[in-house]
Amino acid sequence: MDLFSCLSPFVFCSLASGSSGNCYYVGKHDEGVLVDAGISLSQIKRRLSRVDIHLSQVKAILVTHDHIDHIKGLGATAKAFNIPVYAHPACLQGLSVGKSTKTMDVTLFRPIEAEQSFEICDIHIESFPVMHDGNGTLGYHFRLENHTLTIATDVGVLDTVVKRYLKKSDSIVLEANYDTKMLHEGGYPYILKRRIAGPFGHLSNTEAGNCIAELYRPDIKNIMLCHLSRNNNTPELALRSVYQQLRKHRVGISPNVSIFPLPRFKQTELVYL
Ligand SMILES: [Zn+2]
Ligand SMILES: [Zn+2]
Repeated sequence: MDLFSCLSPFVFCSLASGSSGNCYYVGKHDEGVLVDAGISLSQIKRRLSRVDIHLSQVKAILVTHDHIDHIKGLGATAKAFNIPVYAHPACLQGLSVGKSTKTMDVTLFRPIEAEQSFEICDIHIESFPVMHDGNGTLGYHFRLENHTLTIATDVGVLDTVVKRYLKKSDSIVLEANYDTKMLHEGGYPYILKRRIAGPFGHLSNTEAGNCIAELYRPDIKNIMLCHLSRNNNTPELALRSVYQQLRKHRVGISPNVSIFPLPRFKQTELVYL
């Protein structure tokens, strides 16, 4: 048996993660989907090529919501290979009037409801609703054979629906946006601090850590922390918070589990799901 036949056929690559831009590849080695396109077309092409994927192998772009850090390169990327764009109808409506997306070809738009199942490239995908102040914010759950992944970014509240999808996954991408102390002591205006920490804002490191402790199983494979704030977080703090919560809940981590923050400006290696 060669090395590649031992590895999972299902892969993930973060091309960018954080308030400066979000874009993830989820799929097989030969074809798959992007989740969000919050960096430029040239960056998407360049970063995909570093893991030997060409944009023509991307068969769909699933959009979580219409904030600029998730859609900055969407119009150009979809246009480059006529890639269909899946999103909640409210998000598509937002795209049709958004500054950077209003000239997009609406025939590429594929409306999906919250909690809808569909298949792309043999990957079973389920969307689910996420509380956030974008239009029609969705998270996505993926399954290929017996490998599962959930992406939950820009999460105001970790409600029972979001947790249900995270719990049934053996790899997760979960937001750890801010360190509470850094946010409160930092220079953001009060109204912005309140928005970030509010029910339609973002998840703190502690909230993410608590949730990970709650859903942890010894057979979970990858725990990836996404959308770290540039001003109110560091990768070290996010990771430390998660380990603190795990210790607090007396959860012993198996050596087979990878827990790591996704970098803001660089792509990751391929993660085998
Ligand atoms: Zn957002
Ligand atoms: Zn965002």
